[in-house]
Amino acid sequence: MSSILPLNCLPRRRLLEVLAAGAVLAPLGACSENAATGRRQLVLVSDEMLAQLSEQAWRDLQAQTPRVDDTRVQQRLEAIGQGVADASGLTNVNWEFVAFESPEVNAFVLPGGKVGFFRGLIDLAASDGEIAAVMGHEVGHVAARHAAERLSQQLAVSVGVRAAQVLLSEEMGEHADEAAAALGLGLMYGVVLPYSRTHELEADRLGVDVMRSAGYAPSDAVSFWRRLTADSASGAQPLAWLSTHPTNDERLRVLEQLAAT
Ligand SMILES: [Zn+2]
Repeated sequence: MSSILPLNCLPRRRLLEVLAAGAVLAPLGACSENAATGRRQLVLVSDEMLAQLSEQAWRDLQAQTPRVDDTRVQQRLEAIGQGVADASGLTNVNWEFVAFESPEVNAFVLPGGKVGFFRGLIDLAASDGEIAAVMGHEVGHVAARHAAERLSQQLAVSVGVRAAQVLLSEEMGEHADEAAAALGLGLMYGVVLPYSRTHELEADRLGVDVMRSAGYAPSDAVSFWRRLTADSASGAQPLAWLSTHPTNDERLRVLEQLAAT
């Protein structure tokens, strides 16, 4: 992902030039304002297609990694997850929360609302509130449509906006396999590769809002990040969460400010 340009949203004039040059009408609204963030995004892929591909990635992940063999752990994660998801107001998302048996200190979300937490992270969290802080962050990525935006950026950079739109257009049925392959690959990358600083900070901000709405104390987000940073500094183990969700002083400062409001 480090090779991806910071192409947040093409200026309207530039986009029109691109489209005019290709004389192909955009099958989807290419650039739109996100209700959760108020930021304009380049989105070339429909929610339906993304959800469909997300289902496939979710099935693959579950086939590869066993679930935690303890119903109490699973039920606790579901209870916290459902509470945070309900508070987000994203009622059209088919949420699912699974605790995976892995020492990795990590969690992820797929755009269709499939949330995975690894045992390492669940064990590190000191309270339900700290788990809710991570849950809020993951739900924030969904609210802000970060996966759709990142995938659109990837496609736009690799094949160009017009080609991406042609690939994704429903009329181009014979290219559906190519599009699915490109998108599927993007989704899998989406699980393991880092989001941009903008996306991470947005997810943090939305996460604090939503955990607060769900009845948790935003200060738990601060304590969790502190714990994660301290654990990492001790060199006890490499923390996957930190490599996929880079933390820094700025992030902690932002969380502290949000928690204080
Ligand atoms: Zn994140």
